[in-house]
Amino acid sequence: MEIELLVIPEWVITVNSRNQVLHHHAVAVDDSRIVDILPMSEAEKRYRPRQTVVLAQQALLPGLVNAHTHAAMALLKGLADDLPLMEWLQNHIWPAESRWADAQFVYDGSRLAIAEMIRSGTTCFNDMYFFPEQTAKAVQEAGIRACIGLIVIDFPTAWGTGPEDYLQKGLALHDQVADDPLLTTAFAPHAPYTVSDDPLKQVSHLACEMDMPIHMHVHETAFEVQQALAQHDAVPLARLDNLGLLDKHFLAVHMTQLTDEEIALLAEKGTHVIHCPESNLKLASGFCPVAKLLAAGVNVALGTDGNASNNDLDMLGEMRTAALIAKAVAHDASVVSAVQALRMATINGATALGLADTIGSLEIGKAADMIAVDLSALETQPLYDPVSQIVYCANRNQVTHTWVAGKALMTQRELTTLNITELLATAQAWQQKIGATS
Ligand SMILES: [Zn+2]
Repeated sequence: MEIELLVIPEWVITVNSRNQVLHHHAVAVDDSRIVDILPMSEAEKRYRPRQTVVLAQQALLPGLVNAHTHAAMALLKGLADDLPLMEWLQNHIWPAESRWADAQFVYDGSRLAIAEMIRSGTTCFNDMYFFPEQTAKAVQEAGIRACIGLIVIDFPTAWGTGPEDYLQKGLALHDQVADDPLLTTAFAPHAPYTVSDDPLKQVSHLACEMDMPIHMHVHETAFEVQQALAQHDAVPLARLDNLGLLDKHFLAVHMTQLTDEEIALLAEKGTHVIHCPESNLKLASGFCPVAKLLAAGVNVALGTDGNASNNDLDMLGEMRTAALIAKAVAHDASVVSAVQALRMATINGATALGLADTIGSLEIGKAADMIAVDLSALETQPLYDPVSQIVYCANRNQVTHTWVAGKALMTQRELTTLNITELLATAQAWQQKIGATS
């Protein structure tokens, strides 16, 4: 049978329900989807591929899903480090954004972030930022997959005058990208302390009616929880629950402050938690109790957060940090195994975004969103277990190929849809502009 593409790696790490790792198998791709996964010896008899990619030193795995980021903030990478969250936000990030975050900033920043993501094996990201139509445009040009956040925040910005305006613009973007198979949208109210009850009720109603995810920072720090108690007489999670937001559509980002009762509530409601360990570490926000959440049956996915608070968009690194920190927090080395960390970075992210039928694992019928990691380097040898090696040893420069919906976005570390020289020149131009005034 004639097909578009046959990929023959050393291992296929499927991340299917049985976490199968297949040796000497091939993945057949046609019309953007995986049509077969079969022993290498049979593949060459059964299929006549228009292209064959032999990856004798690589593991092929599902593309990584970055379940929380602010792509455009790539241009603020390293602008203000080593500061507490509120000082960082109020005295540095928000002033820089109000001065610089226009349409061009968001487009250029998104392109830079997308290139970094493709180079580190991310094939889908969940974004939250102003001028989301610019991020969507950058996504479409680059050929990556994304869920674009329709941001809602109480105060005016260069993008809009307030919640009504943001919602209207967001819904227009939702309609505009509805036919794009690589783009979905989510409501993205920024945080409990920046969005008041009325717009939250509206978001809750719309998300339910339109069957769309809601993506929000929640319980990022102890300060946020204390301040809300003083202001609303309820912790943010309880307030959101009262407003009807907590259900299977809701993606709660960070969650470093959680009681056992709140964990039980999240499990009961089917709410997803997006864990951003490196951002939490850098801003000293606290520790998400990942092992307890997983034990309670909560779906936990991973995000890098934006470039200004991490400062990289490296999901391989994020997986490793997540696995390590969960053990320390739980005082138990057996929690969050390499396999679980990989699931959090792939299928759990897809589940949170409502995309588990399309992406998140290498299975017949799913989109061919795949990456190859070269495990032949000295740093990843000897090799007893490819999943362990990817989570605990490999670095992002070992990602050699990235495909989204069967299209190669990186081949042998060469980007196919973005021009690095151009991206570097743009980054330097912004650095000169922003650096001159900060
Ligand atoms: Zn964030």
